[in-house]
Amino acid sequence: MNSNSLYERAKKVMPGGVNSPVRAFGAVGGNPLFISKGEGSKISDVDGNEYIDYVCSWGPVILGHNHPEIAKSIESAIYNGLSFGAPTEIEVLAAELITSSVPNVDMVRMVNSGTEAVMSAVRLARGYTGKDKIIKFEGCYHGHGDSMLVKAGSGALTLSAPDSRGVTHGTAKDTLVAVYNDIESVERLFCENKDEIAGVIIEPVAANMGVIPPEENFLTGLRKLCDKNNALLIFDEVITGFRLCFGGAQEFYGVDADIVTFGKVIGAGMPVGAYGGRREIMECVSPLGGVYQAGTLSGNPIAMTAGYTQLKILSENKEIYNKINNLALKLEEGFKRAAGELELPMWVNRVGSLVSVFFTKECVENYKKAKTSDTGLYSKYFNYMLKEGIYLAPSQFEAMFISYSHTEEDICKTLDAARKVLGNLK
Ligand code: PLP
Repeated sequence: MNSNSLYERAKKVMPGGVNSPVRAFGAVGGNPLFISKGEGSKISDVDGNEYIDYVCSWGPVILGHNHPEIAKSIESAIYNGLSFGAPTEIEVLAAELITSSVPNVDMVRMVNSGTEAVMSAVRLARGYTGKDKIIKFEGCYHGHGDSMLVKAGSGALTLSAPDSRGVTHGTAKDTLVAVYNDIESVERLFCENKDEIAGVIIEPVAANMGVIPPEENFLTGLRKLCDKNNALLIFDEVITGFRLCFGGAQEFYGVDADIVTFGKVIGAGMPVGAYGGRREIMECVSPLGGVYQAGTLSGNPIAMTAGYTQLKILSENKEIYNKINNLALKLEEGFKRAAGELELPMWVNRVGSLVSVFFTKECVENYKKAKTSDTGLYSKYFNYMLKEGIYLAPSQFEAMFISYSHTEEDICKTLDAARKVLGNLK
């Protein structure tokens, strides 16, 4: 079976032939590749091609594919049974590691996805403050919970549908939208909705409208506004958690959040999410408090084993962060050099091991600027890079993820390919 014939079969039985929209390659044209294996920094498709992978499962695979220690830990766990719906030791180990390393997280609750983590965090912010409204930022993506599908990024932005059908007006009216990196837009919303705002949720580094770093003082400005208005600051660290550094964006930028959400790296590729915060906030969660949240498979022992093994490796080998950040820096510098030499209208953003190339002359600092990128050009770039053996996100509005398995050689090959491809795009 090759990718094209699998896709024909898949389209008959799954909407768009996929289980998550961006995978369908709709934004870049062509058919999706069906992946058969990943090893280190590379993935192979069923057609027999190998690619240097910069999607890395959209972030979880920070150590690279098929990491031997993680694979071994899962293998030994599965023979004890797959799920019990009762507490297991590995959940305690994982929670202890997280709470002892992430600032302001005294307690944590495991769930099964980033979406679930955010839905639960938003409910908790409302339950704790007794207020209904939430501020989010245009172009930030927080999963597909109803209240977060308002001016969302990622797939919702790629498919030009930031507002989903099926989200009721009643739900959407409690989601207020501010402009990323514009503290006055947040201040205005607080003034116009006095004593009604439960919290502000943000991707501390926006990574779902392409990568956009927070400007200096923006996150601290949010912290001050939340304190002044008795609102909670929620850092959605589904991408940045355990990636920027082990303590996530709070540690990286020195800003305290009240509630933090996790996903991706925390599960090493298994379906895991989590949310945590200070003790007095987390004690509002059931069964201690009145904010209900539950899950048949939450804290699943196999998923916890994979995630815990990955987190333990990261916590004991902090030089991993130096390596992936340096590789990403090399990519950033290489892309910028190529753009300069070829006199191409390109803007490159990077934070840590997250990189984005935008086809625009504008400084990309918010959603509006991200939207100035020439997505037609991105599609060509994507498809030519694929032919060169480089697997990028099939959308302009996503990040490149660098893993510990990427090598200097991978980066050189990628930059050689990019120079060739960009030269042909002129
Ligand atoms: N929050 C952020 C910042 C994300 O990037 C994502 C997914 O990409 C989510 C939440 C939702 O996570 P999941 O896809 O695991 O539901």
